Order: sequence, then structure tokens, then C-alpha cells
Amino acid sequence: MNELKTKYDVIVAGAGIAGISAAVKAAREGVSVLLIEHYGFVGGMSTAGMVSPFMKHSVNGETLVRGVFEDIEIEMRNRNGMIDNGFYASAFRAASFNLLKNADCNLLLHSEILKVNRIGNTIDSLTVLINGIEYVIRANVFIDTTGDAQLLYLGNFPFAKGDEKTGKLQALTLFFRMINIDIKVVTEYAKANKDNFFDWMEYNFDFKKIISIAGYFKQVKKAISEGRLQEDVQYIFFTTLPESGEGSFNTSNILGVDASTSYNLTQAELLGRKQVEQVVKLLQSEIPGFENSILLETAVQVGVRETRRAIGDYIVTGDDIKSGHKFDDAVARAVYGIDIHGQKDEESRMEHLPEGQYYEIPVRALIVKEAENLLVAGRCISSTREGHSALRIQPTSSATGEACGALAALSVKQNKPVRKINYCDLQNLISHNLKKKA
Ligand SMILES: Cc1cc2nc3c(=O)[nH]c(=O)nc-3n(C[C@H](O)[C@H](O)[C@H](O)COP(=O)(O)OP(=O)(O)OC[C@H]3O[C@@H](n4cnc5c(N)ncnc54)[C@H](O)[C@@H]3O)c2cc1C
Repeated sequence: MNELKTKYDVIVAGAGIAGISAAVKAAREGVSVLLIEHYGFVGGMSTAGMVSPFMKHSVNGETLVRGVFEDIEIEMRNRNGMIDNGFYASAFRAASFNLLKNADCNLLLHSEILKVNRIGNTIDSLTVLINGIEYVIRANVFIDTTGDAQLLYLGNFPFAKGDEKTGKLQALTLFFRMINIDIKVVTEYAKANKDNFFDWMEYNFDFKKIISIAGYFKQVKKAISEGRLQEDVQYIFFTTLPESGEGSFNTSNILGVDASTSYNLTQAELLGRKQVEQVVKLLQSEIPGFENSILLETAVQVGVRETRRAIGDYIVTGDDIKSGHKFDDAVARAVYGIDIHGQKDEESRMEHLPEGQYYEIPVRALIVKEAENLLVAGRCISSTREGHSALRIQPTSSATGEACGALAALSVKQNKPVRKINYCDLQNLISHNLKKKA
């Protein structure tokens, strides 16, 4: 990681799992890369948001996402920071920093992208705020992995936001982690009170794997009726972590917030913290197995599922997901279905694909319409709201990030615009078994 230059081959904006995967891939292909991040660490939702575990990404026993994603997994397991598909934010940070360093990727932390400077439909440079001073940094190809499609917004490129009819955005969640939970007692209580939990819960608990507990409907309802719990919290959901007795809670439910502005996010942070305090009190005082539990930490920031998404050369739809659409120019594969965490007056939806089915993502969904040198990955991907709700998960974000990194590197090395790159060349660079179809 060298000193800051004024020009790179590729700039990746935002160091969540998509940005890390893009930057590592491009750098491994031998082009110069600058990865710019607002926080003092990398990982985005996977670390600042403390989101765990990785959602399903295999079909018929075959892993669909390989490459940088698998390398992150291996690095985390080597640090005892991952069990089954769950992991610690600290392990994710350490693993990612190591991969970025080994790939010789340049990193600029504690920096905020302020402006996107265009010459026609080509991005010439970004203006970045570093220590209160504005720097202009140029590149040939730009990748927007800010989660919020900040480069599109600042550069006035086309994007969409929220439900096509209602404008609603998915609920937000502030993650937290507790220790000293007696998991045996928790599971025995769940087995004996199945009507108090979701009907999808499985009760063949294997303590070497992640255990998911979701429900406590009766206690939640009572606490709400007595004014001890904010009414938007609908249930308590947590998964266990590598260390026994630890749980990662995906429980708070923050509604009515458009998280694309700092002011709104501030309201969400305050509400999220209030909900966490209330849930922890409820767990410690009323839920078997939590008598000696301790709140270890809350996430650095509230978890944001949905803000802006790109409008690209192709828009992935809910039908593409549900029908298992395959594309000649596929650059990633996934199995996760439509998953919308409902807003006020909106039902939540979880629609799994039939067992054994998967879908593909075409490279055109990563190329921003009306832009010559701007790619998107992760949460910014070009999709309808339904499509987005499936594509936003971490393994798919990594796969689309890696594809952008490979495409950007090819564009630089072949000295051709991103749209002129032969998709077979691109597929040859990607390690997700895409060529198997041929
Ligand atoms: C509550 C919640 C639960 C979830 N549960 C799961 C789950 O169980 N399993 C799963 O696989 N997925 C889950 N997801 C989805 C998944 O975590 C995210 O969609 C995914 O991690 C997004 O990755 P990303 O790289 O696209 O964006 P992000 O992780 O959001 O990264 C974007 C990065 O860009 C940076 N950035 C933004 N703007 C700027 C700027 N102007 N200048 C500099 N830097 C900037 C941010 O600081 C951040 O680091 C969940 C998400 C949420 C919110």
C-alpha cells in the first residue's frame, strides 16, 4: 500500500464485501487499484453493520461463489473467526486487510467521496475529502460499491430507489452481539415451546454448527403491550457464533426511514439503540438461558438493506430470480430468493427458489447506463426492487464485485471501453465455474 497518487487504472469506491472483492480481483490481474473507504476499516455491512452469517450460495452441493469470497472464508477460518457460515466482524476485517495487502491494492481510508467529475458520459476523476482537504484523483475505470450508489448520485447517472409503485424501502436493523448465553437451555426451551417460534425453525440442534433461533412471540407481544418494547420489533432472531454461548442478533426493526441521508440515518441510529436496550432487558429478565448474558457490542452503524440501485444496460427482475434465468454473458450465479423486510403497512416476503434451481447475473447488470466507464456491484447492482432484494446478500455481492474487478482490469489491459470487452474473455477470468455451461 503505497503513497497516494493522482491517477490509478481503477478506482473502487466503498470497501464493503463487493468493493473488497472488486479491488482484490483487479489488483491480482496486475492493474493499479485505489480502494476508497469512509471508515477507518474495511467490510461495510459485513463489519460496521456486523451482519452475519453468509446466506446460502450453493446448489446440489456445489459452491456457486468462489474466488475472493472463498479466500475471505479461508482467511477467517484460519483465524478461528468463522464457524459453518457465521463469522466475527473482526475476523472479516483482518481477512480482508490481508487479501488487499497481498494483492498490492492501494487503500485510502477515512476519506469521503465528494464529487464525480465528468467529461461527457465518461468519469474523469473523483474529488475526495482527505483530512478536510479536497483531492482530485483520476482513473480509467470506476467501480461504485458504496452500497448507496453514491457515484451515480453525485455524477448524475440514472438510478432507482425503493418500490416501483409505493417508493417504500426495506426496514433497517441494528445488529448486536451477546455473550454468556446458555445455548443448551435456550434450545431446550425452544423444543418445548415450538408454538412460540417460527414454523421454519429446525430443532435438530448441532452445537458444532450455527444455530438459528427466531420467535419468542409471546414475550415480545407482552412487552409491547406493557410499553417495554417499541412496537415495530416483531420477534427476536439470533444465530450463534464460533465461541459457545455467543449470539448475533438480527432483531431490531427500524421502519419509516430513507437511509440515503445522514439526517435520516441519525434518527435510525437513535431508534435502533433504543430497541436494542429494550430487547436486551427483555432477554435478561424473561427468557430462559439469558439470565447471565451480557450485551457485548452493538454494530458501528445501523444495517441498511436498501437505498439507491443503478439503472444499467440490463435490469435484473424478480422474474429472472424466480425463473432461474440463465444468460450467455453471465458473470455470477446465485440461489437466494426474494427477501423483502417489509416497511410500515407492507408485508415481509421471503420466497425461496425450488431446491436445485439457481439463476445467473449478466455482465450488463454491472454496467451503468449512459456511462462509459462506470461499473456497479453489491447493493448498487442494476435491478428492480424484487431483484435487488435477492442480489444484495454478501456472497452475491462478492461475486458481482469480483466480476467488476475482472472487467475493469480487462478494459485497462486491452485499452477498450468496458462494453467492448468480449464476455468470454471475462468469464475466463472468473472462478465461479461459469464455463461449465459451454
Ligand atoms: C440488517 C441486515 C441483515 C442482513 N443479513 C444478511 C445475512 O444474514 N446474510 C447475507 O449474506 N447478507 C445479509 N445482508 C445483506 C448484506 O450484508 C449487504 O447487502 C452486503 O454486505 C452489501 O455489501 P456492499 O459491499 O454492496 O455494501 P456495503 O457493505 O454497504 O459497503 C459499502 C461501503 O462503502 C462505503 N461508502 C459509502 N459511501 C461512501 C463515500 N461517499 N465515500 C467513501 N466510502 C463510502 C461505506 O462506508 C461501506 O464501507 C443483510 C443486510 C442488512 C442491512
